[in-house]
Amino acid sequence: MRSPAWSWDELLLICSRVVDNGWRQLRTYQPATHELADLLRSLPLHGEAAHRIPQFRSATSVSRKSADLITSRPDYQGPATRGGELTRLMAEAFTRQEAEMRQAARAIEAGIGSGELFQIPVQPDEVAEDGTIAHEGRLLARWALFRERNPQLRTRKLAEARRLGLPIQCEVCAFRFGRAYGPLGEGYIEVHHVLPLHISGPRETRLEDLAFLCANCHRMCHASFNGTSWRTPTALRAQMTAHTPPSEAV
Ligand SMILES: [Zn+2]
Ligand SMILES: [Zn+2]
Repeated sequence: MRSPAWSWDELLLICSRVVDNGWRQLRTYQPATHELADLLRSLPLHGEAAHRIPQFRSATSVSRKSADLITSRPDYQGPATRGGELTRLMAEAFTRQEAEMRQAARAIEAGIGSGELFQIPVQPDEVAEDGTIAHEGRLLARWALFRERNPQLRTRKLAEARRLGLPIQCEVCAFRFGRAYGPLGEGYIEVHHVLPLHISGPRETRLEDLAFLCANCHRMCHASFNGTSWRTPTALRAQMTAHTPPSEAV
């Protein structure tokens, strides 16, 4: 049995170390390469069968993959190694959005280090229906979705809105479930984290970090598009306004 294909999250962690290493190959004589291999083997991404494969995420395979990432950079002049499409996309992401990608890597490592990421069950929508993975990785998407589904947080956010006399409605399009569906939809609303984990860092959620969204706007805030996979309500509203034909504008 062969090791499973490299996942986006694994490539993200390797590429972050390659960048730290000045875009040079991670070598098997470097202790950091073995530590990274240990970290990759610990990720809650692959099934038990993968972990029984002796070469699964060995330091040698990590070293080889680091070379693939280097030769997959958009401006790399030398001969390419065989990396594959995901490797090319990752090298490109780190070339164009280095700070954001490194922050994502740090957030994943923090979640693994604290043990938090091991306690979070797989979320059904951490991978989009078309198979795409969030730009910041599957593990951060899992963590973020789980975090904003925290029922206590949601209850507190709703209680605060009621106390302040604010309407329970979508902060992007003003949709109110109660108004559209009557008693069936009364009080229904989804809660969205305004800042993604790789921007905010893993810290305790405050009520002001949360926004109310209808199901449609919430989907659109999380959708992967043009190398981004998280939008604030403000950014989504700007997107909607930009695409509303003048005759329909209100
Ligand atoms: Zn909405
Ligand atoms: Zn959300």
